[in-house]
Amino acid sequence: MKLATIKPRLPVAGKAARAPAPPKRIAGRRGQERRKRIWLKDPHCANCGKLVAMHEFELDHRIPLHQGGPDTDDNCQVLCAGIGGCHDLKTRAEGGYRTRR
Ligand SMILES: [Zn+2]
Repeated sequence: MKLATIKPRLPVAGKAARAPAPPKRIAGRRGQERRKRIWLKDPHCANCGKLVAMHEFELDHRIPLHQGGPDTDDNCQVLCAGIGGCHDLKTRAEGGYRTRR
């Protein structure tokens, strides 16, 4: 038996090229996609150079958002996850999310 690919039968309007985004949770889903995309470009920690698996890194903003960094792919990098990992250390060095008001 062959699994047929079901083509969407929605009308293809000019601006309908993007999937309709649900009003909630856009950041989560798009964040996951971006995470994967950036990791696929270079699956190494930008700080220590370690090769990290998909579940072993955190996406970091080179210039933190709270310092005016853009929320773009170019401003994102792969860093080791976990306590004491490169992302954790960088976040702390930057003053973290919590200590700054
Ligand atoms: Zn690292």
